[in-house]
Amino acid sequence: MFKKSILLLALSFSINTSLIAEKIAILGGGLSGLTTAYELVKNNIHENNEIVLFEGRDRLGGRVHTHYFDEDQKSFYEEGGTFIDSDHNQMITLAKELKIKLKKTSFVDKDVFVVNEEKFLKTKDAYYIVDMLVDFLNAFKDRNINLVHYNDQTKQLEYVKAEDYFNGLDEVAKKFLETYYFDEVGLDLNNMPAVALFWINEDLKEIKQLLKLKKSTIKRTFLSGLANKFAYRYSVKGGMSQLIDALENTVKDKVTINLNSKIVSIKKEDTLYRVGFENGEDFIADRIIVTLPFSTLRHVDVTDTPLTDLQRLSIQTLPYGQHIKIGIPLEAEKDVAKDLLYYVNLDHRFIGWAGKNAMTFFLGSSKSQEYGQGDVNNLVHDLMPGLQSKYKYVKDFGAPIIKNWVTDQFALGTYSGRSAECNIGIFNPSDTIRDIYVFAEPTIDNRFFLAGEHIMADGSAGHMEGAVRSGKIASGLLMGNLLK
Ligand SMILES: Cc1cc2nc3c(=O)[nH]c(=O)nc-3n(C[C@H](O)[C@H](O)[C@H](O)COP(=O)(O)OP(=O)(O)OC[C@H]3O[C@@H](n4cnc5c(N)ncnc54)[C@H](O)[C@@H]3O)c2cc1C
Repeated sequence: MFKKSILLLALSFSINTSLIAEKIAILGGGLSGLTTAYELVKNNIHENNEIVLFEGRDRLGGRVHTHYFDEDQKSFYEEGGTFIDSDHNQMITLAKELKIKLKKTSFVDKDVFVVNEEKFLKTKDAYYIVDMLVDFLNAFKDRNINLVHYNDQTKQLEYVKAEDYFNGLDEVAKKFLETYYFDEVGLDLNNMPAVALFWINEDLKEIKQLLKLKKSTIKRTFLSGLANKFAYRYSVKGGMSQLIDALENTVKDKVTINLNSKIVSIKKEDTLYRVGFENGEDFIADRIIVTLPFSTLRHVDVTDTPLTDLQRLSIQTLPYGQHIKIGIPLEAEKDVAKDLLYYVNLDHRFIGWAGKNAMTFFLGSSKSQEYGQGDVNNLVHDLMPGLQSKYKYVKDFGAPIIKNWVTDQFALGTYSGRSAECNIGIFNPSDTIRDIYVFAEPTIDNRFFLAGEHIMADGSAGHMEGAVRSGKIASGLLMGNLLK
């Protein structure tokens, strides 16, 4: 109820600010920063106020970026954000507003391959593994009472680690769970609190439903159900960067956009905020919306700001996924994605999927770092013959492109996760309301707002949806405070 009312407040704002003249700085030009700018512009805030956006990279979009293999953009892969879940309403609305075409990917009638010990598993064996996981996690759920403990002395929640619960699980099923977890969260199971598995259990509920379907349907859908609890999802036709370009084009004449502006400090001076840049320059703003991921914000000096202790703690400790992505162009005679959906490789612990004449490998956790540093070309060459044998029209493939988000200085990780290390308790349902305060509550002066996927406590964190929702919430709160 609380979350919804904030969102509605943010969405319904349209105000006359004729007497107000302020400098508003948006820090970070990813999806969240751009959405913030878009919302302010939509509400004509630029007419009486100066809006300035600062971005460290030489491009906008942050963790949303499409790599095009050729000039006519027929073959591409997404280096970052890719899929829009069917209930990601704010993303879908934004795309519609910007006249961006979405492509629906249905999970029905697609092939899903599972490889174990270098062999493609028979569907019934993969089916059996998922069935076993459903039973295991259901039994696990009944033990939740002991998984979180509130320590009266430290005033913090203490978690049991997920890894402690895997004894006795079949080796292949364990590999499957690990692969799925690495792929989705990008963190090792031994970094995660055991309560995090409730979230996987939620996904597995969908699979349980699928298991009730006719077997001919199940065999094509159950694994894709595991990767996403919805029956279909969207991607942007022609690549996600189109959405970023459309946002940029909408705001660029009304918002001053400064690229190559690496932020190193934020300080409060009387009622104003001074933003310091790596090149020694600074900018003074009346209000700021900070959309930097906590992974990079923790390297920005925010000592002299009225952030709360809990916000500071989360900025310092919130973990980020350790993924790299590999994209390979395929010489295919048709859109590979029409047939192939997922390629789950239990030996190498990754999930791959087909796109438009391209294949993506999504590698999570420490494994990904191993590949990132090793010879990825060899890895790809080892894997492709298997796929080629299944897909005769995949004739050849080009040099892989690697995107390592962990070493990218403006990301330092893929997307926020929640772990025992960041003792905020997001996996404990009763703590949800507390979390939104911890991350997103404006500072007491109502002039410093946090946005970005990582602040959302409603299940949209880690997703583009979270970036858009948080941008809408922060801009709504800022506009509300402009009136005061
Ligand atoms: C590999 C990968 C796969 C993903 N897959 C999906 C998916 O399928 N579906 C989905 O919904 N989401 C997915 N996501 C997540 C999604 O991309 C992000 O949640 C979303 O893009 C985050 O937007 P943001 O604006 O919050 O953060 P960002 O995009 O990180 O924006 C922050 C901006 O701040 C800038 N910045 C950082 N530090 C500084 C600094 N010191 N000074 C100046 N500028 C700075 C950055 O350059 C960046 O532009 C994926 C992400 C990755 C990396």
